[in-house]
Parts: sequence; C-alpha cells; structure tokens
Amino acid sequence: MLEIIAEPMPSLTLPALAIAPARVIRGAGILATLADELTRLGRRPLLVGGQRSLPKVVPELAPCLEKLAVEQAVYGPDCSETSLARLHEIVASHQADLIVGIGGGKALDTAKLLAHQAHLPIVTIATSAATCAAWTALSNIYSEAGAFLYDVALDRGPDLLVLDYDVIQTAPQRTLIAGIGDALAKWYEASVSSGHSEQSLVIAAVQQARVLRDILFQKTPQALAEWGGTAWCDVVDASVLLAGVVGGLGGAQCRTVAAHAVHNGLTHVAASHGTLHGEKVAYGILVQLRLEEMGPKTSLAATARQQLLQFYDRIGLPQSLDDLGLGQMSLADLRQAATVACRDGSDIYRLPFSVTPDALMAAMVSSTAATPWASKTNASQLDDLSHSPQEEVSP
Ligand SMILES: [Zn+2]
Repeated sequence: MLEIIAEPMPSLTLPALAIAPARVIRGAGILATLADELTRLGRRPLLVGGQRSLPKVVPELAPCLEKLAVEQAVYGPDCSETSLARLHEIVASHQADLIVGIGGGKALDTAKLLAHQAHLPIVTIATSAATCAAWTALSNIYSEAGAFLYDVALDRGPDLLVLDYDVIQTAPQRTLIAGIGDALAKWYEASVSSGHSEQSLVIAAVQQARVLRDILFQKTPQALAEWGGTAWCDVVDASVLLAGVVGGLGGAQCRTVAAHAVHNGLTHVAASHGTLHGEKVAYGILVQLRLEEMGPKTSLAATARQQLLQFYDRIGLPQSLDDLGLGQMSLADLRQAATVACRDGSDIYRLPFSVTPDALMAAMVSSTAATPWASKTNASQLDDLSHSPQEEVSP
C-alpha cells in the first residue's frame, strides 16, 4: 500500500491577520442610531476628524453622545508625527477610552494610529468614498507639509466601521471618483506583486481585486449619472469596503507597487497637494503600465493602458501631469518625485524588472502616449472589459 508522508508543517509563527473591521454598519441616516454600539466600546470617546467633517457629522451623532463624556479634536497638520503627539496629549487629559475617527483618509489614518498607539478601541466613520481607509489596518504618515514618509501596519482592523450613505452622498463627486481610482489600483498592483502567489488568501485577494475592477468598470458610469442610486451604493461599497477586503486578505505580501510609489513621489512636490490621493494613484496606474510596456509584456500593458485612458476619459480621472495641475512643473520637481518613488525600499521595486528614476520620468511624461493598436479599442468595448482576459495584462 502506498504510504503518503505529508510535509511537516513549518514551526514558525506567522504574522497575525488583520483582515477586516470587527463590525461594519451600513445604511442611510444611521448616525443617530449608534448609541449602543458606541457605549459598548467606551464611555469617554475622543472624536478625531477634519475641520469640515466634525461640524458636519457630530450634530447627526449627538443623540448617541448624550450619556458619554465627549471630547473633540481636529487632526492635523496632516497625518503627521506632530499631529499624533498633540492628540496623545488630548487622549491623556481627557482620559479617553475610545477613539472615533470621522472624515476622509487622512483623518481616519490619524485616528486609527492614535488608537493603536494608545491601545484604545477605534471606530471609523467615513465621510467620503475617496479611500478604503475606514476599513484597513494601515496608516500612512506624512510630513507636516504633506509629503509621504512611511506607513504603519496596525495590530487589528477597526472595532466598528460606520458607512452612512446619507453622509457619503453629500461629499463632492470628485471624492468618489478619486476613490474609484484608488480602488482600481488594487488589481493593477496586486496582480503584479502577488499574481504568482500560491497562498490561498493571497490568491483570493488578487481575484477579489479583479472582481473589484470589473464592478467599477461596469457600474461607475451609472453611479455617477444617478447619484445616490443603487449603482452608486454598489460603487461606494466597492471603493470603501471591497477595496479594504483586498488589502486585508492580501496582507503585507499583496502590497502596492508603482502606482502608489508614483503617488508617494508626487506628494513631495508642493504643487501636487491640491489633488486627492486617489487622483494621483489613478495617474500612477497609467505610469506603472507605461513602465510595464518597457518590460516583457509590452502589448498587454499597452492595451490595458489604452482601456484605462478611455475609462478615465468617461468618468473624469486624471490621465497626465497636466490633468493633475502639474503640467508646468519644473524638471527638478519631476526628478524629485521620481527619485522619491525610486528610493530604497520603495514599492516600485515589486515590479518584475528594474526601474531607474530616468525611466520613471520618461513614463511619467508619457502616460497618455498613443500605441499603434490603440484605435482597435473603442469606448463600446469598455462595457466588455470584464470579459477580456485582463488577468494576463499584468504578470
Ligand atoms: Zn491608496
């Protein structure tokens, strides 16, 4: 009889998984109904948010706060070490036992990291669909001037994520479009960094990133045309929640690649600060594909870029430095952005070929370059993108 001897399990301890928030509460007009949820987590919450998001959300939240000892603090400057140091003082003076983050990506990143460092429970209340920061166990740290410095992996996802569609609906359309750009990057980056992984959860993450991209391709035009409608809700869920699932499932091995590295580089150019995270990332996807066009799978990357250019054109995502308001940037600034994107440890080195600042600069100024076969794709084919063999596009 054939005897099968299994390989022994490795004895090492693997990193803990922080896949998702413990609870996600969604709905329209739900802010006033969270009293039990908040009281379960703490009695002395510190609300941390943006200058505009706090006055917008706190009155809605007021019925839930009546029996709690509440303190508020505006985050800033940026999600920076200085901002965190100041907020820690407020945590101590208020004797806070719960952090409630209210706002967009930077406010939520600040609140999450504050809670992580202070060992307190954390609630995230998203006020726009511009990122999946309400979901993820990750915070990005910037300088006080807004330049990306590093990210911090948190020990767990939020204890509660609140997604109130009434609040999201009042955010500018531009924030949702930026969130779509950031969410699209999941596929283009995960397929490059982890497309060949044999680990179950990473395979699942990459496939979810493809599903996410397809949902966005199919539903975004209708979502923007019928603001607040069913397709809009689906796109909000995709950008805030499903994008978070991809990051959570994939973990540290399913990370960002060149699109976010380009974003990070651009944040070191002051003139880029008027644009949103997802807008820079969306442009970064085109730059990444341009770099891939210089690699071994030229035609597939070029086709993907042309398809994205048409999609961006349809929904209003930036395609070039010009669209980001950086058309007049100096060569020195361009080199600075490229050098930061190519510094040691950058995610750009997850590309399966080497990249230099010079090559990156060339890609950054040619994100809309035509390709000989570009005329073969047309707008009507966008509707069929989910059926195209895109998984071959990025190795
Ligand atoms: Zn991002």
